[in-house]
This record gives sequence, structure tokens and C-alpha cells, in this order.
Amino acid sequence: MNNIYKKIIEHYGEETQINKTVEELAELIVAIKKDNKKMIAEEIADVEIMLEQIRTIYNIKYDIHKINSNSNIIRNVILCCCELIESLEVFDIRDIDKYEINETISCIYQLKLIYEINNEVDEWKERKLRRMKERMKKER
Ligand SMILES: [Mg+2]
Repeated sequence: MNNIYKKIIEHYGEETQINKTVEELAELIVAIKKDNKKMIAEEIADVEIMLEQIRTIYNIKYDIHKINSNSNIIRNVILCCCELIESLEVFDIRDIDKYEINETISCIYQLKLIYEINNEVDEWKERKLRRMKERMKKER
């Protein structure tokens, strides 16, 4: 499982994947603003794949981050994505806050629950990872 993320990072390089993460976070914000369930599921899959790589690069363990149930989930996700984009733009390994990564993962988890798209996201992830593996094989 984690091996595929390591392989992707080795193939494309850390900097490329960090930049790609910024792009995917931005795409998720766009999908949320459009309130398009199908698009949100696909973009969450992209972001989750990227955040797994970020966790691999920075060696971040996932701790469940408690989220105030009264808070606005959609607003939280947008804020988390924006803050993470800002941190990743700095591109300093030391500056990446593992708390920020885990908070984003937890917020996205909540978002999947309210849209009831857990299965769709998993299907997208499977499809996308399969495609990535094929692409990397060809590019080797
Ligand atoms: Mg995308």
C-alpha cells in the first residue's frame, strides 16, 4: 500500500509531487464551490493520493484530528486546503506542519461523510492508482 506512494515519489520527484499537491488541493476547492458531488468525489481521491505522498515524503504518521462537530465542515475543508497550499508553497521540509496535514485529512473525511461518497472516492482512488502504475511502467 505505502509502497505505491514511495514508487510514485521516486518516479516523479518530491518537488513535482509537492507542486502537484497544491494543484489538487485547488481543484478540490473548485469542486466544492461548484457543489458537484461527482467532481468532489474525484478531487478528494486526487487529494488523498497526494496527501499520502506528502505523508511519505515528510514521514508523517496519521493521527485522527478531532473536529468540532458544530463547525461548518465545508468551510473547514476550504480553509484547510488554503492553509496547506500556503505551507506547501514555502517548500521547506522543516516548515511542513504534520498537524496541518492531519487536520486536512480529518476535514476531508468529514466531507466524505456528509456527501456520502466514501465508496465513490475509493473507486476513483483505485482507478487512478492503477492508471498511474501503468503510466510509470511505460515511462521507465
Ligand atoms: Mg484533480
